[in-house]
Amino acid sequence: MNFPDIADEAAEREQQLIEVALANRPKPQMAYTGECHWCEEPISKGHYCDASCREDHEKFIRAQSQRGVA
Ligand SMILES: [Zn+2]
Repeated sequence: MNFPDIADEAAEREQQLIEVALANRPKPQMAYTGECHWCEEPISKGHYCDASCREDHEKFIRAQSQRGVA
């Protein structure tokens, strides 16, 4: 008898779908603003001043979206 809770399994699957959707979705909030979206450093192009800012911001967005679901 080792069946996982069905609700847990559904939640886990839903989370996977959300992550796939997030990964594939164009990011509407990612307009060029002249600033890094994370640390607000002025930048001449793109959305972030460097890759670690992008990663931190993506983690932040993911954490926020999970809080909204839960
Ligand atoms: Zn930055």
